[in-house]
Amino acid sequence: MRTFFFLVLLLPTLVLSEDNLVIVISMDGLRHDYPEISTSGGFEFIKKNGLEADSLIPVYQSTTYPAHVSMATGVHPNKHGILHNSFFDKERGHYSYSPESDWIDVRPVWTILEEEGIKTATYFWVGSETDWNGIQITYSKFPFSSRVSETTKINQIIEWLELPNEERPQLIMTWWHGVDSVAHKLGSSKEIVKKQLLKQDKHLLDLIKEIEDRSLWDEVTLIVVSDHGMTDISNLINVKEILDAHSIEAILSLGPSIGHIFLKNLEETELAINVLEKNELLKVLKKTKVPDYLNHPKRTGDIVITTKSPNMLVKKVYSHPPLGMHGYDPAINEEMKGIFFAYGRGVKKKKLKQVDQVDITPTILNLLGLEVPDYMDGEALLLD
Ligand SMILES: [Zn+2]
Repeated sequence: MRTFFFLVLLLPTLVLSEDNLVIVISMDGLRHDYPEISTSGGFEFIKKNGLEADSLIPVYQSTTYPAHVSMATGVHPNKHGILHNSFFDKERGHYSYSPESDWIDVRPVWTILEEEGIKTATYFWVGSETDWNGIQITYSKFPFSSRVSETTKINQIIEWLELPNEERPQLIMTWWHGVDSVAHKLGSSKEIVKKQLLKQDKHLLDLIKEIEDRSLWDEVTLIVVSDHGMTDISNLINVKEILDAHSIEAILSLGPSIGHIFLKNLEETELAINVLEKNELLKVLKKTKVPDYLNHPKRTGDIVITTKSPNMLVKKVYSHPPLGMHGYDPAINEEMKGIFFAYGRGVKKKKLKQVDQVDITPTILNLLGLEVPDYMDGEALLLD
């Protein structure tokens, strides 16, 4: 009896075209329903011709630094370690809006691509200002300045697009102002953010037209996202005051919705929990009871407190407290949900329901023909 073995070798086929290019624009603080305000700009163009998701679920806590690093790593903050715009690390000390990318525990997407020989570019993206573990980004504009206009960024993007193939970046990621500042200051209603939203929408249309003028839409995929949504707040919870009243000494690492309390004296753990629990707006967790998604080996406090909007954790008295805020758990505060739009190469006209912020990196890798590593929390979105 003879047995025949047919051995079929399937070699992995990476389709790495030097023409494919992905642009990711992140608009700060654009809540999922804000694009409805405008009917004549870039959002309307993409709604008519491209892909729109009902909403994007941000990571928790839904603040700018954790969100941008999650969009660039494909993992949640407990894994990449950037828990908020500022936080405390038991070994390294305080982090505050740092440009040092070695605070990030998981490799950013541009390092994955650069190691594959694919050039990348950022025009303001958290974590891209310095080398990550010695891996350098080809083109990066920094230091961050909120005074740089979107027009300047668009001009640079076009300059990058017009480079000869061997010099052209295949991933461009850029932060735009969105509506964050005005909403923090004056509130989150559509009427309040309208003027600023219309400006951003116009810039988006300008970029779309510039790419159209150069007949590059069969090479370029544009993804427009936001880091988080926005809600109104009306109650500040002064955590320092609560602990001071009982002479409990601690380092407070607070975001609007999650607070990490590093006690000076661990014997005061039960006392601190008791006094914090007296405030019914706080959820209080001992470190050993903290769920995985809030747990980082060096950056999670001995006690973790959480709250939802319209409350905000603070450690000082504000003379002019913000009226709009974000940072809350999107599973509890729906207003935290952001936007996701896509247009161009590899994108069909369609609608998606909800997408996750951690899906952005897998989607970029997929569009550029690279495999998505198993450790990532997100998955590549089907855009076509
Ligand atoms: Zn903000």
